[in-house]
Amino acid sequence: MKPANAARFLAATPRATHPRPTRDPTRTDGTRIDAVRPLITPALLLEKLPVSEATLTLIERSRQDIARILTGVDDRLLVVVGPCSIHDHDQALAYAALLQAVAAPLADALLVVMRTYFEKPRTTVGWKGNINDPHLDGSFAINEGLERARRLLLQIVDGGLPVDTEFLDLLSPQFISDLVAWGAIGVRTTESQSHHQLASGLSCPVGFKNCTDGSVKVAVDAIVAASAPHAFMGMTKMGQAAIFETRGNPDCHVILRGGKRRNFDAASVAAACDSLGGAGLRGQVMIDVSHGNSEKHFRRQIEIAADIASRIAAGERRITGVMVESHLHEGQQHLRPGEPLRAGVSITDACIGWEDTAVLVQQLSSARISAGKLAGRLAGALAGGLAGRLAGWSKCGAGMAAAV
Ligand code: PEP
Ligand code: MN
Repeated sequence: MKPANAARFLAATPRATHPRPTRDPTRTDGTRIDAVRPLITPALLLEKLPVSEATLTLIERSRQDIARILTGVDDRLLVVVGPCSIHDHDQALAYAALLQAVAAPLADALLVVMRTYFEKPRTTVGWKGNINDPHLDGSFAINEGLERARRLLLQIVDGGLPVDTEFLDLLSPQFISDLVAWGAIGVRTTESQSHHQLASGLSCPVGFKNCTDGSVKVAVDAIVAASAPHAFMGMTKMGQAAIFETRGNPDCHVILRGGKRRNFDAASVAAACDSLGGAGLRGQVMIDVSHGNSEKHFRRQIEIAADIASRIAAGERRITGVMVESHLHEGQQHLRPGEPLRAGVSITDACIGWEDTAVLVQQLSSARISAGKLAGRLAGALAGGLAGRLAGWSKCGAGMAAAV
């Protein structure tokens, strides 16, 4: 093209100030879709943010340890603790550093995993989490959200602390699930077949919350479904539509989070274990001390955790995990356009603050240690009783021998 023509061509070309979304409707489909924007592929993100060998080893070991807790081989308590949702990465990293400092010396009694929730289920509408809307302003920069989420998870796990997340979206796991040690399926999706299928193919252990009405049967059914093989449609790391055939996930369990009524008490644990036993599953639960159990009064988490700790110390073995919602500072704040946010305070469910969290985690550790000592004393007493009886028998035998 001659320079004059090129200049005319450029002048006539409309300039987009930002990438223009495309649409791909047909006459009868996509009629309510406003825009279709490009999504990065998981493979691109994994190439940009790879995982070190040491971190892969930590993730594998954490998953194996959790599976051993779930089968009773490892008698530590799984403690999943952290913010209801992540909305600020620096604050999340500050929290992770504090948690790791408290968790590391307690590693003989507890396996501590940090809650790093990037996807929030909403009953109606609202902020759906840091992947969906990382700028908290309705700009839905999902590509950026995925990158930030992966970067944060990497930073936390690289630092030595395993992480968990709620698996809500069916495609997002391809971008981050290689970094997750333990995953949750929330109260609103425990009944969803798509989430059972997803869990059946996840590489980490998965906890299913009881249903919104409090039904544990739905979570038990979910465990049975997730342990079976499934075939379903999904997206590969290369971003290609594909059929996935899974082997089933044997490392799933129930999370009691309360529903119409609270369900952290001994009778609820016993009922849940009966229901699990009826399905041929190990009678064990994780208790979420927040949500329906705290009835949204965040400070009740402290009382409930103390109650659980005393039951564990007294020998309760069916509680294998505890979940707590905690942030740098207690309470909750509303996300309102144009209003500044207080640092380290949840913008979703209200959380307990860091000082209370440190005490609570210590308490759970002490409970686990006391339970271990109790078990040791019982085993010692049993062995002592047996030795005494054996000594009695041998004396008796010697007496009989002398008599003949
Ligand atoms: C959560 O863990 O923050 C959560 C949303 O839980 P649930 O699914 O129990 O409401
Ligand atoms: Mn929550």
